[in-house]
Amino acid sequence: MRIGMGYDVHRLVENRPLVLGGCIIPFEKGLLGHSDADVLIHAIMDALLGAAALGDIGWHFPDTDDRHKDADSMHMLKEVARLISDYKVANIDSVIVAQRPKLADYLPQMSENIANALGLSPDQVNVKATTEEGLGFTGLGEGIAAHAIVLIG
Ligand code: MG
Repeated sequence: MRIGMGYDVHRLVENRPLVLGGCIIPFEKGLLGHSDADVLIHAIMDALLGAAALGDIGWHFPDTDDRHKDADSMHMLKEVARLISDYKVANIDSVIVAQRPKLADYLPQMSENIANALGLSPDQVNVKATTEEGLGFTGLGEGIAAHAIVLIG
């Protein structure tokens, strides 16, 4: 078995949709990025690539490449699934760090979206959310972070 971890941050700005785990979430701000800036999916992709010792998403999906401009991160996740197809994913655990909005109602759908993209069952993909109690950049609402950990074999 091999373990991998991923971490990502994107800045919250006005006039962008908030996309997390493939869900569009009603909020007054969205995440800034070259792609759709789905910070949770980016963390999971980095965890999967890391577990397979295949580098990181910056290497596979450079933000200097216009093919990835406003890209749907779920499509990139499917591409990562192909890259690591020598392995089977045992499970994924993840956490989104955001002061607002409240994400609890969306977590099961995120889990299902990620499982569908990777050909897994939803019970292999856990998505959690937490705040940082008003501390730091997530607490101030300046950005959203995500952590992910995966086991493949
Ligand atoms: Mg990112």
